[in-house]
Amino acid sequence: MRSVVTAVNERRWDFASDNTSGISPKAWAAMAEANEGFLPSYGDDKYTEAAADAFREVFEIDCEVFFVFNGTAANSLALASLCQSYHSVICHETAHVETDECGAPEFFSNGTKLLLAGGPNGKLSLDTVDHLIMKRRDIHYPRPHVLSLSAPTELGTLYRPEEIRELTALAHSHGLKVHMDGTRFANAIAALGVNPAQLTWQVGVDVLCFGGTKTGLGLSEAVVFFNRTLAEEFDYRCKQAGQLASKMRFMAAPWVKMLPDGSWLEGSSHANHCAALLVDLIKDAPDVERLFPVEANAVFLRLPQRVHDHLKRRGWSYYIFIGGGARFMCSWATSEDAVRDLAKDICEGAAQT
Ligand SMILES: *Cc1c(COP(=O)(O)O)cnc(C)c1O
Repeated sequence: MRSVVTAVNERRWDFASDNTSGISPKAWAAMAEANEGFLPSYGDDKYTEAAADAFREVFEIDCEVFFVFNGTAANSLALASLCQSYHSVICHETAHVETDECGAPEFFSNGTKLLLAGGPNGKLSLDTVDHLIMKRRDIHYPRPHVLSLSAPTELGTLYRPEEIRELTALAHSHGLKVHMDGTRFANAIAALGVNPAQLTWQVGVDVLCFGGTKTGLGLSEAVVFFNRTLAEEFDYRCKQAGQLASKMRFMAAPWVKMLPDGSWLEGSSHANHCAALLVDLIKDAPDVERLFPVEANAVFLRLPQRVHDHLKRRGWSYYIFIGGGARFMCSWATSEDAVRDLAKDICEGAAQT
């Protein structure tokens, strides 16, 4: 058995995902600080209250905030709260809710159907969304009731605020609500240099799933309702789904530290920077093709087999994704040295004939 563990640990997981990293020192310290004495459980503690207030401050609005353990729960419970079972959700065909949540959105909503739209670079285009809304208006088809966007998208690209506004205006004009999968929301904000409000409620987003885990927290995703009436009874939904943490203070404490002082953006800025550095270092490698614009912390590359073989020999772990591309993710913990190591191995592999 030992040899299996050793073999796995000898490999390099730096770029396999942004959740192969640990918990950032600041988040860890905040959890340690919250580890004092007795406090009320199930979110009735001072840390959870302060965290919710910190969200209201950062988003400049009196939003309603809930904490759950992971992104699948955040997305699927948020979508379930926006839908009846006979409704449908419009999302991109590469969206995480479609490709990586094992049917959880359909499960928690008791059958709400996902309707898949296309669009280049992982982004929904206005006309495909419009087509899906208008395609069927009869009683025999699940009624479109939510538009789901991701920021950044699963392909590491970004909607600009004005693009979001166009999509949400279309959605709202047909009575749809708007959900945003912001598992990497901090990367989007760091990359775009806008305020959180400018990428969300000010451009028509009703509910945001704001990821902590990939940003450097241990296990905490915030479901942020800008439209408070939509949050009604969401606490019961979380509890029923097994997502109400009894020791909630440990999920809340890192946000209390990291939202007000702006440090929630530091790790993501660094991750974005590392992705840009990687792109720069491999730009002259022959037969290595960048698949999508690199706008946040993901780099998707089409690699010739000789590069895959070389990276395998060198112990690099990474995932082959949508369209056969190799995905390299950077995180708060990625070191520039690691980026240089990887880039060197990609270039070496590409130079072999
Ligand atoms: C990682 C991720 C999630 C959440 O996944 P969990 O593994 O359930 O935490 C959601 N959306 C996107 C775009 C992701 O990359």
